[in-house]
Amino acid sequence: ATALLLAACGEGRTGETGGGEDAGTGFDAGATIGVSLPWLGTQNWAEAQAMFKEQLEAAGFTPLIQAADNKVPQQQQQIEAMIQQGAKAIVVGPIDGTQLGSALAAAKDAGVRVLGYDRLIENTDAVDGVVQFGSIRTGELQGQSLLDGLAERKGDGPYNIELFGGGPADPNAPNFFEGAMSVLQPKIDDGTLVVVSGQTDFQQCATQDWDNGKAQARMDSLLAANYSDTPIHGVLSPNDGIARAIITSCKSAGQDIPVVDGLDAETESIKSIWAGEQYSTVHKPTKDLVAKTVEIISAFQKGEEAPAADETEDNGVIEVPIYALDPIVVTKENAQEVFADDPDRLALLEG
Ligand code: BGC
Repeated sequence: ATALLLAACGEGRTGETGGGEDAGTGFDAGATIGVSLPWLGTQNWAEAQAMFKEQLEAAGFTPLIQAADNKVPQQQQQIEAMIQQGAKAIVVGPIDGTQLGSALAAAKDAGVRVLGYDRLIENTDAVDGVVQFGSIRTGELQGQSLLDGLAERKGDGPYNIELFGGGPADPNAPNFFEGAMSVLQPKIDDGTLVVVSGQTDFQQCATQDWDNGKAQARMDSLLAANYSDTPIHGVLSPNDGIARAIITSCKSAGQDIPVVDGLDAETESIKSIWAGEQYSTVHKPTKDLVAKTVEIISAFQKGEEAPAADETEDNGVIEVPIYALDPIVVTKENAQEVFADDPDRLALLEG
């Protein structure tokens, strides 16, 4: 079905390229490739900025990379400018999965190939594929790691926990939460886990704009309202920045550090894990995600069919081909092994 879909996309594009030459059958080897990142507020996006530059140049392309500071209109304008500057493909990590319809329709009309990067692009047919780490899978790993950490560090249950989600505009955030809850909900139902605040809906638990400060403020309130004379044992966290905010809040409330998972294998969290504070993180190596994206762009450039996708996902308008890489859980126990080929991260594990 995916191959058919890709073939169909390719056909649809022929004749409506408008961009001259052979946009339907490939483009110039040195072509401009746009990369529109949502913000640089977490380490993965800053790494993507550097690695797209490096890997696109190594593949002979001319990168045009911009980040949009979490502001949707800014991202729309940046994409429109990339089309005007002749980009032949545009890679987009959307701030809001649903707000790029007209900018991407303009890209499609100009014969520009569009790839989602790390996040799904929703409600548009103007997307050729999305390259990401499975977002439901990521959440499952986070939920399972929280359970493992509780058993390892906090003795027998029941365990008092709280739940955090990421930015609600980001299509990954509800998926991370859903994946985690598929593991945690049965344990809430059987009484092993107690969400003392009672807040278990994604909307109640979400963190607007993935803002660590907002997560810390919510944790402060949860602790003040529910934990003045009871311990907190664990907290589900959607990423590393929020994990550290939660730990900071618990320390200042005089709590023992709860078991907290994370995401992104950020420098500060690897140090925290190595020091025995944050329990775990989920690693999604940016280098591999960028490499997969550049591989697909190279196929587009040569006019070849894109490599086969791993699955498809309904984005509200079409079944989008998804290239899904495997995320990896990292704890103090396996960190040296996981980072064996990553000298920068490995160096954090000394001492
Ligand atoms: C990414 C995470 C990141 C978060 C906030 C998500 O879409 O998958 O790696 O921590 O955005 O930037």
